[in-house]
Amino acid sequence: PDPSSRSQALHTRAKRSLPGGNTRTTVYLSPYPVYAAHGAGCRVHDVDGNVLIDCINNFTALIHGHAHPALAAAAHRQIDLGTAFGMPTESEIALAELLAERVPGIEHIRFTNSGTEAVMMALKAARAFTGRPKIAKVEGAYHGSYDHAETSLDASPANWGDAAAPASVAHSQGTPQGVTADVVVLPFNDCPATEALLRAHAASLAGVLIDLLPNRVGLIPASAGYLRMLRRVTAELGILLIVDEVITLRLAPGGAQSRLGVTPDLTTVGKIMGGGFPVGGVGGRADVMAVFDPTAGRPAVPHGGTFSANPVSMVSGLAAMQLLDDTVYAQLDRHGDMLRQGLNQAFADAGIAGQATGLGSLIKLHLKADKLTSYRDAYPSPAQARAMARFNREMLNRGVLMASYGLIALSSPMRDQDIAQIVETAHDALNVLRREEVL
Ligand code: PMP
Repeated sequence: PDPSSRSQALHTRAKRSLPGGNTRTTVYLSPYPVYAAHGAGCRVHDVDGNVLIDCINNFTALIHGHAHPALAAAAHRQIDLGTAFGMPTESEIALAELLAERVPGIEHIRFTNSGTEAVMMALKAARAFTGRPKIAKVEGAYHGSYDHAETSLDASPANWGDAAAPASVAHSQGTPQGVTADVVVLPFNDCPATEALLRAHAASLAGVLIDLLPNRVGLIPASAGYLRMLRRVTAELGILLIVDEVITLRLAPGGAQSRLGVTPDLTTVGKIMGGGFPVGGVGGRADVMAVFDPTAGRPAVPHGGTFSANPVSMVSGLAAMQLLDDTVYAQLDRHGDMLRQGLNQAFADAGIAGQATGLGSLIKLHLKADKLTSYRDAYPSPAQARAMARFNREMLNRGVLMASYGLIALSSPMRDQDIAQIVETAHDALNVLRREEVL
């Protein structure tokens, strides 16, 4: 124990009232996490007075970093006017208009409190619209914690099954067998196998859920051919194509779907469009979204939510989205390319097999050099996972905060010298890995 560490003291205290001292699995770090005190722009101060350059930005949500003056002003104004009402407010219309204008697949949208809820409502909408029970999703992909959406998430090699027909594996213990029975797991970027699975299950498939740049699948994009096949086959078979843009909305005004050229039937959004507050949204074709329409009586899919479309999230989200003009996207893309290039050079200089994947402001590090196209390619060996955790700790101890499994998300306040600092720190951290022969 380090008696001078406030983070360690807080974790010890937390263990008395939170299981394992933790309320969010993704932010746990062994032996204890570093606790945040406050942040401004692209920097976070921890409770021990260390200053970190923030490369995770609340798991990609804070595209403008911390405490952006325009977002803070919007939130403060609304807080003084009331934070939530048992009535709709004008603020939800303004954010809906902006998203419908920018995102090709969104004609109508409903707001939720999280990406998890957005995905859950999208899957329910697809089932109600088609009258079919099953959902297809990509092996290993993360879509939040709704039972069907988390099936096969992070599945380990012992559970993979056939490469052409991956096993439907429950993520949480105790998941009812009916859940896994209603999920068809697709091998990412494998056109013939995916098409065969869609055709085999067509009569019972309501929708295909896909993240076009899936983080847990290695942050490698869906190939153009894969997307063309998905759009053609789902349209032919009456299956809805559901694109999860909870993370990838940060890639372009119209999200990854506009960047990669596919228009889905339903789209889920979240993270950046809450301006730092809890948010999610499910949008899509007006005829499909009509399953939520209450004007003719009880809708096919009733959907409420005490804090759905609360005006604090709505006005802060609108402010965040309005700041995202072409100049800001161009800078985020340029910084992403600079960082990917710098990190790849750092691997080469250190003589360590590794690579940086991703697109735009999203970057993922891998401790393997082979070309990655699928979940199984990208899946780290136990030694690679341990080495990545060590790399993360070396980065953290040198003032760079990223996800422990190698995810980086940039923010608009970052400048060229911040990118250079991250690259320089990666050089130092990789040198430790090489010196200590961690790999
Ligand atoms: N979909 C994707 C692709 C995500 O990455 C996430 C969260 N990281 C979610 C859905 C769930 O969003 P939330 O954490 O807001 O529930």
